Amino acid sequence: MDNLPEGVTRREFDGRDRLCTRGEPVYGEPTDGDWRVWDASRSKLGAMLELGMETGLSGGDSVLYLGAANGTTVSHVADVAGPTYAVEFAPRPVRDLLAAAESRSNLLPLLKDARRPESYAHVVESDVDVLVQDVATRGQATVATRNARFLSGDGRLVLAVKARSEDVAASPESVFADVRTELSEAYEILGESRLDRFHADHLGIVARPR
Ligand code: SAM
Repeated sequence: MDNLPEGVTRREFDGRDRLCTRGEPVYGEPTDGDWRVWDASRSKLGAMLELGMETGLSGGDSVLYLGAANGTTVSHVADVAGPTYAVEFAPRPVRDLLAAAESRSNLLPLLKDARRPESYAHVVESDVDVLVQDVATRGQATVATRNARFLSGDGRLVLAVKARSEDVAASPESVFADVRTELSEAYEILGESRLDRFHADHLGIVARPR
């Protein structure tokens, strides 16, 4: 089953079935008219959708996205979502992110540190529908837990965990076990899937706040 949010669809590109959204291209992805390919090998959320995970993301949802980088994934999110707050702490990618936001009035880049949610609490609406996180740094569960305050009661956390960012020497499974334990203080895990087909040693997790 597909579980694709409204506005994300499958179209044939060069004989292959690809996920697409409608919007201005951002990262050199193939296009066909308004449609742009959402490349699952360059996007953890794209991989989660490609693998059929139920993310809970629906068209028009409000989204807080942590670790927006150059805007590859968050631009696809903004193509289908409502207000999309995109947090990134590195100034260089934020320049590209601002360019991606030019044609997307609902995409709101924030040059902020996701470990310090109080620094953007005055900008981000409370009760967002979906919190997407792909920060790939040590302390991924802590970041998700600190940002739970922004989620509505029946909202969803959609988290990509990179094992090597926590501990290069540990086995991915032991890293993921520790992440689950820490997350469980603030979240109930609803589903998860290894993303290795697209991203080595990554786990995708969907959860809701407790
Ligand atoms: N999500 C992006 C995409 O799919 O287009 C890729 C994100 S990349 C794997 C991780 C990003 O998280 C980097 O750009 C990094 O600078 C950012 N990041 C890491 N720690 C962060 C923090 N504490 N606050 C904000 N951004 C952070």
